[in-house]
Amino acid sequence: MEIRINLIENIKSDTCCKSYNAHAFKLTFVKQTKNIMKKVVLTIIIFSFAIITIACQKANPVENATVNMTASLASIQQSVTLLPKEPLEEAELARILFIREEEKLAYDVYKTMFDKYGVTVFQNVPNSELSHMESMLTIIKKYDLVDPIDVNPRGIFKNSALQELYTKLIDQGNISLLSAYQVGALIEELDISDLNSSLAVTNNQDVRLVYDFLNKGSRNHLRSFFKNIKMLNGTYIPIYISQSEFDSIVNSANERFW
Ligand code: MN
Ligand code: MN
Repeated sequence: MEIRINLIENIKSDTCCKSYNAHAFKLTFVKQTKNIMKKVVLTIIIFSFAIITIACQKANPVENATVNMTASLASIQQSVTLLPKEPLEEAELARILFIREEEKLAYDVYKTMFDKYGVTVFQNVPNSELSHMESMLTIIKKYDLVDPIDVNPRGIFKNSALQELYTKLIDQGNISLLSAYQVGALIEELDISDLNSSLAVTNNQDVRLVYDFLNKGSRNHLRSFFKNIKMLNGTYIPIYISQSEFDSIVNSANERFW
């Protein structure tokens, strides 16, 4: 009788143990599965955030560029207002009006190239040209000059040399995307050359500040266009600035505004 009870007890405990082990195993399994699921969900969340962040950055380069440009322009305009109004010689005055229209040439050409090719560089760079045009306007207003742009629509210029150049550049840019990028590089090296010669005839601090701002922008644009030219296996030979000046610009890093 005693033996039987013991046996039953043994069987009981054995069964109990087996079922307990099974239960423990089940619990461990569930726990591990839960942990794995947690990790998977966490990974999915992290990746989703990364993808959304990248997508947002890709979708909004223009917005980002516009925000940065608006800030740079506001800072330039404030400095121009604060700096003293110094006398302007005839030569300085003529350069101011010319540069204001030359910035419009860049803006108008890039806008037209964006309409044709729809590539990002022709969407970002005109925003910057608009801020260059605006900062020149700040100078024009401060010195009570007559704005040469007035209400001129896209592709219309007061200066006949710029008018001729516009037509030539549009024809060239319409050939292919590569030639459009080469037109971009040409405009930028022309701007750099003209800004340097304008800086040489001006000692007014406010005008020099604006020219430096435009020049920095042009160097960055030249870097962008040359990068795009190389991506299409194209080449570019500068005509307005020296090869060594060109090389030193395209081989150096993008410049920040402050
Ligand atoms: Mn510019
Ligand atoms: Mn430019």
